Amino acid sequence: MATCALCRRRFPDEAIADPQAFQDHHLRPERRRTSETVRLCRPCHDQIHALFTNEQLREEYNSVAALRGADRLQGYLDWIRTTTKLSIDVTTSNRVREQR
Ligand SMILES: [Zn+2]
Ligand SMILES: [Zn+2]
Repeated sequence: MATCALCRRRFPDEAIADPQAFQDHHLRPERRRTSETVRLCRPCHDQIHALFTNEQLREEYNSVAALRGADRLQGYLDWIRTTTKLSIDVTTSNRVREQR
């Protein structure tokens, strides 16, 4: 079973045919060697890198708790939790967020 650290969706291993469906996110992106990593589903990983610069990730969103509390992620998280998607078009999720 794989669980995304951000949206907390759970997927049985056999549902994850694509090895890229879950990815390690470095909480401090510029320090890949020593940075703590978390397992994220690809939609969450794509979304946080689309919304935040590495500098913002390092300075403001360097923990799962901070990411989960980010205002700009609330619409996305509400939406992704209603789906079982393991890949998204980030422009689609941006549109979904702006409509809220
Ligand atoms: Zn996720
Ligand atoms: Zn990342």
